[in-house]
Amino acid sequence: DVRTEEKDLVIIGGGVAGYVAAIKAGQEGLKVTCIEKRGSLGGTCLNVGCIPSKSLLENSRIYHQINHDVKNRGIDVGDVKLNLPQMMKAKETSVSGLTKGIEFLFKKNGVEYIKGAGRFEDQNTVAVDLNDGGSTAVRGKNILIATGSEVTPFPGLEIDETKVVSSNGAIALKEVPKKMLVIGGGIIGLEMGSVWSRLGAEVTIVEFLGAIGGPGMDAEVAKNIQKTLGKQGMKFMLNTKVMSGDPSGQGVKLEVEAAKGGKAQTLEADVVLVAIGRRPYTQGLGLDKIGLETDSKGRIVIDSEYRTKIPHIRVIGDCTFGPMLAHKAEEEGVAAVEYLTKNYGHVNYNAIPAVMYTHPEVAWVGQNEQELKEQGVKYKVGTFPFTANSRAKTNLDTDGMVKFLADAETDRILGVHIVGPNAGEMIAEGTLALEYGASTEDVGRTSHAHPTLSEAFKEAAMATYSKAIHF
Ligand code: FAD
Ligand code: NAD
Repeated sequence: DVRTEEKDLVIIGGGVAGYVAAIKAGQEGLKVTCIEKRGSLGGTCLNVGCIPSKSLLENSRIYHQINHDVKNRGIDVGDVKLNLPQMMKAKETSVSGLTKGIEFLFKKNGVEYIKGAGRFEDQNTVAVDLNDGGSTAVRGKNILIATGSEVTPFPGLEIDETKVVSSNGAIALKEVPKKMLVIGGGIIGLEMGSVWSRLGAEVTIVEFLGAIGGPGMDAEVAKNIQKTLGKQGMKFMLNTKVMSGDPSGQGVKLEVEAAKGGKAQTLEADVVLVAIGRRPYTQGLGLDKIGLETDSKGRIVIDSEYRTKIPHIRVIGDCTFGPMLAHKAEEEGVAAVEYLTKNYGHVNYNAIPAVMYTHPEVAWVGQNEQELKEQGVKYKVGTFPFTANSRAKTNLDTDGMVKFLADAETDRILGVHIVGPNAGEMIAEGTLALEYGASTEDVGRTSHAHPTLSEAFKEAAMATYSKAIHF
């Protein structure tokens, strides 16, 4: 059955990119339909990504802190026990509250929500295989593809989500593994590795490159956080490549060797987490039916206004270019709709923050030192350690630092890198500064409340154009 009414906008995918675009389109008065096959809105981020992982990170951190770091604060506790099913329940409560909230926002903004899998019938028609059985088809003047991404598999090691897990399985383990091996020392490996390490697993991160953190992290910051995570008990094997895996025994065996070649070594664990990146997901969309192509990395090719070569079909979020981040997808959701209604959309790709929610957190925006060196940019550096910040001292939480990179001549901020408590919130100020084209002196001459962690931010700025007071 083909619906007769033609919509202004049909969105395939109800993840962060798709649902934000749908709400924005509803607010702008467009007739909009959003098709999502998962059975709930919010995509990877709300269902199996950002939200459940942050719930586990917060609660595992509290558990770890009670076990290791309250006696010296004057708190004696008795028998501390982990109730993993309850920790998982708390996670599920956060997830379901937020995903249902989006359904409410759809209703509030007049967005039609179809539960099913969409595929192109022609350039203006999307057929939907409904989750409840049967099918329908929706016609749209404009179509927005926001189908997201999926985990990149490790060749030859099948993910069963119990012994060999992706992040999907790692947020839902039934018990704490004794030993966990993580292939890939990027954001997922370090966040999920932190969760299980805090809950008692012996976690080893196997990373191909010579540094942890994945793409974008400043090398000095990466070293700094590695040291701190090491103190917390995580083990690291850098410059190491995984050759093959064997899950046929009781646990899982991994054959590894030095990245540059060398003697092979066999590692064993109860659970292996595959976290070597994610790739765009466009399966079953029928792109070939309408003549749309993907590049060598599986990304649907678009122009600067998110248009494919069929101009009324646009693409945003993880299934196209740029960092695979929820807030990037969200910005694109708003901008893609504004291109339709106002002919102009704004996303500043130089000012998209990145945050790793370990403890301490790592956050950055703009360029890192490696990148500036490669580009031959003349820059100056200012840093301030949390050991010299009064609030971090009272909180007994002093690992980390703030680092500014600024143009050597003009003092314009080029990048901000933070490893420290609350870095993920603090980076918002750095992002705003970058967006407004601020200098480090603009930040350094702005009053910051005392005693706050943000004073470390101000003093690192001061250290860039002049000198910090407290260090
Ligand atoms: P997705 O969220 O993947 O949504 C796409 C949706 O489209 C899916 O729900 C899918 O079911 C649906 N779909 C696909 N094909 C069809 C079809 N044919 N018909 C109908 N529906 C379809 N980012 C952050 O910024 N911060 C974090 O803390 C963070 N933590 C993460 C933790 C983990 C473990 C993971 C895996 C990711 C994390 N991310 C985080 C990344 C973030 O989840 C993604 O960048 C974000 O979800 C991308 O949004 P999207 O809408 O493009 O894609
Ligand atoms: P990633 O790209 O961040 O890190 C993957 C790491 O695996 C890299 O360091 C890479 O060098 C390494 N690697 C690749 N192949 C390897 C191999 N064969 N052996 C050993 N190491 C190997 O990818 P991820 O951690 O899987 O995360 C995927 C995406 O999800 C990222 O784009 C990230 O932005 C997003 N994400 C974001 C957050 C957040 O914002 N807090 C949290 C989780 C995920």
